[in-house]
Amino acid sequence: MEETSFRLERLLFPSIADVAVLSVNVNHEAIRIEARGTATEAGCPSCGSQSSRLHSSYLRFPADVASAGRRMVLCLWVRRFFCRNAGCGRRTFVE
Ligand SMILES: [Zn+2]
Repeated sequence: MEETSFRLERLLFPSIADVAVLSVNVNHEAIRIEARGTATEAGCPSCGSQSSRLHSSYLRFPADVASAGRRMVLCLWVRRFFCRNAGCGRRTFVE
């Protein structure tokens, strides 16, 4: 399963280095894949400061496509971090 999971991560999220597939559910109508980032910190897009101080997390649906006649739903948990730079105008940012 670990090897299969690694391949799924590279196939579904080629531009994200640190991602883990949490679950894959298949039924007659849809394939639902849930994943989340695994990096312990992220860089603020405004000032570049790294932060591991978590603000919140939520589900995003970056793609909703068909696969072999079934709907494929990608569910990606994304985290919002606090920017640690007091001089930065951006208080929080999404990984
Ligand atoms: Zn910042």
